[in-house]
Amino acid sequence: MEKRDILSMSPDELSAALKELNEPAFRAKQIYSWLHSQCVTSFDEMTNISKALRQKLDDNFVIFGVSIEKKLISEYDDTQKYLFKLHDGEFIESVLMKYKYGYTLCVSTQVGCRMGCKFCASTLDGVVRNLTASEILSQIYEAQRDNDIKISHVVLMGMGEPLDNYDNVMRFLELITDEKGQNMSMRHISLSTCGVVPKIYDLMEKNLQLTLSVSLHAPSDEIRSAMMPVNRKWGVDELLTACRKYTDKTHRRISFEYAMVSGSNDSDDCARLLAKKLKGILCHVNLIPVNEVKETCCKKSSRERIEAFSAILEKNGFAVTVRRKLGSDINASCGQLRRNSKNV
Ligand code: SAH
Repeated sequence: MEKRDILSMSPDELSAALKELNEPAFRAKQIYSWLHSQCVTSFDEMTNISKALRQKLDDNFVIFGVSIEKKLISEYDDTQKYLFKLHDGEFIESVLMKYKYGYTLCVSTQVGCRMGCKFCASTLDGVVRNLTASEILSQIYEAQRDNDIKISHVVLMGMGEPLDNYDNVMRFLELITDEKGQNMSMRHISLSTCGVVPKIYDLMEKNLQLTLSVSLHAPSDEIRSAMMPVNRKWGVDELLTACRKYTDKTHRRISFEYAMVSGSNDSDDCARLLAKKLKGILCHVNLIPVNEVKETCCKKSSRERIEAFSAILEKNGFAVTVRRKLGSDINASCGQLRRNSKNV
């Protein structure tokens, strides 16, 4: 019999599974608390549970956690990049950032990525597999334990496309915000997508309080399709229609990510077209000077170009920020995470 992934189970699923093992409901509550509040990594640490039951748990379940393989600390800021090893020997990366308001962890949702964006290191070797909810949670639990801190904010902006691993990501959201576990505020979570339109509609129906980030990067199909293959399936207008409906339904502001690539998507014309296309959408635009990835040849736009681009958007009434780059000396910035860091 295959052992069940206990850290991914909802409280109800855990109660039902314990009931099958003839254990009372309060045991399920105790175990859930060990897993998601104390964040233990083995059944042996559950000290208020009998040895016999601990053995029974070990026979029936497994805790699919991640373990720290390597950690790099930036010399410029307090950013830390973790290379985590998974139970099957695969690797993923997460980035811990310190802000005035607390700690944010950027988590991965897949081993690799299949979306193929031309400027991103995470997709260079394609996707290997989805992460389980437990493996997404465990990135947070391990980083907390390692630093003896509480992480208050999470961004699903590491390796992978969260909406390409929809069910596990939804389970992760349910567990991380559960008051009997970490009780993280949904408002402190950002989910970033390259634009998997049908799943944006699914997410819209859930009406969650999280922040949806959309990696837009270009205002026209011509430029966007050259940068992001996903655009050939769901074009700019189809994506922005979904975004408009999303904000209408949830009343939550969307954050549009726009990586500025010199000579590609950073002209005044692009800025004007972007302003036209985003008109009426409750949103914020985040400009990111593209980060260099050695296998791609994207060059970042100059500071002057970014300022001019930003000024056009602001003149049209948009809230714009230019993303501060953290952890660049350790390849921990947007689009620089990869599964083979061990060999880099
Ligand atoms: N797959 C999701 C989640 C990844 S989030 C998505 O595409 O949104 C990572 C963010 O960094 C995305 O906005 C992505 O487009 C951006 N990014 C990727 N490579 C980058 C690079 N080289 N420089 C700057 N941003 C990059």
